[in-house]
Amino acid sequence: MPIASRQFLPTLPLVTDFAATHPLAQPPAAAGRFAPSPTSALHLGNLRTALAAWLLARSSRRRFVVRIEDLDQARVAAAGNIASTQLRDLETLGIDWDGPVVRQSQRLDLYADAIAGLDTYPCFCTRKEIASAVSAPNEADWRPYPGTCRTLTTSQRAQRATTRSPAIRLASHVDCYHVTDMARGQCRGRVDDLVLIRNDGTPAYNLAVVVDDGLQGVDQVVRARDLWSSAPRQSYVAALLGFDAPTYAHTGLVSAPGGQRLSKSAGAAGLTDLMAAGIERNRIMAWLCRSLGLPEVSDPHDLIGAAGLTPPCPPTLTRPLDPARLDGPLGWWSDAVLSL
Ligand code: GLU
Repeated sequence: MPIASRQFLPTLPLVTDFAATHPLAQPPAAAGRFAPSPTSALHLGNLRTALAAWLLARSSRRRFVVRIEDLDQARVAAAGNIASTQLRDLETLGIDWDGPVVRQSQRLDLYADAIAGLDTYPCFCTRKEIASAVSAPNEADWRPYPGTCRTLTTSQRAQRATTRSPAIRLASHVDCYHVTDMARGQCRGRVDDLVLIRNDGTPAYNLAVVVDDGLQGVDQVVRARDLWSSAPRQSYVAALLGFDAPTYAHTGLVSAPGGQRLSKSAGAAGLTDLMAAGIERNRIMAWLCRSLGLPEVSDPHDLIGAAGLTPPCPPTLTRPLDPARLDGPLGWWSDAVLSL
C-alpha cells in the first residue's frame, strides 16, 4: 500500500492490495488525462476543459492520456460513432496524447477485480424508493443513500433477489473525505455508500474512473466543476484500492451569451458543426485561449508553460467542498461566456 494512502486512512483496515498487486499497476510516469463519454459531440466547454487538461499536463511534464468512457452502451449506441469525431476534434485543435486511447468497455475485468477486495453489499432499492427514503438534502444536491439495504439479512437478500437484480454498493466507513484542488485548495466533502456496479451489471462511473486513473498513473485530474462533488467519493475509493488520490483542477463552465450553460443535453454544437457553419478553426482556438486568460495562439504547443496557468493563491485551510464558480482573474478555473 502506498505510504500516502496510509496517511489518508490511518484507522481504516479496509485498504485492498489491488493497486500493489495488479499486473497493470506498474507505476507509470505521472499523467494528466481527458476522459470524454462518447454520448454527444464535444461542445466548446468540453474542448476548453480538454485544452486546459492537456496544457496543465504538458506544462508539468506529465504524460497526457485520452480515455473513452463508454460504459453506458445504450447511450453510446444512440450517439453513433461519436468517439472518433471526438478524437478528431482534439487533433484538429492540436491536442496530442501518449499511448493508445483506452476504452472502458474493454476493461470490464479490471473493474470486477477491483471491487473483489472492497467491503460491499447488494442494494435492491429502486430510484423511487431511495427518493422517498432520503431526508431533504442539507447541502445543495447532497442526497446520501440512507443505507436501507446495508443491514438486510441473507434470507432477506435472497428474497429480494427473486424480483430485482441488485446494484452493488460500497459499505463506506467514512462520511467525509479530503480532496485537493489546484484552485480551491484542500476541501472536505461528503461520501456515502456509493454504487460501484449498477443493477444492470455495468460498472459505475465512480468505480471505473478511479480504477483507470490509478492504473494509468493519472495524478492530475482536470475536468469541469460540475463533477466536483464526486471528488471526495473518488478519492476515498482510490485510497481503499491503494492508489494515491490525484490532485484535481476543476475547470469553470461555459455558457451561451444568453446565459444558458452549454450542455450535451441541450444539444450544444460541436467543433465539426461550428466549422461546417463557417466558423474557422483558428477563430475557435482563439476564443478557447481567450476564455482561459491565455494568449491567442493557433498551435497549443506555443502555450506550454504560459504565464496564467497558475490560479491565484488557493486557501490553505481545509474547507467544506463548494462547487460554486470561482470569481477573480480569467483562467481555467473561471466560468466563461461564449463569444466567437
Ligand atoms: N466521462 C465524464 C464526462 O464526459 C468525465 C469524467 C471525469 O472527467 O472524471 O463527463
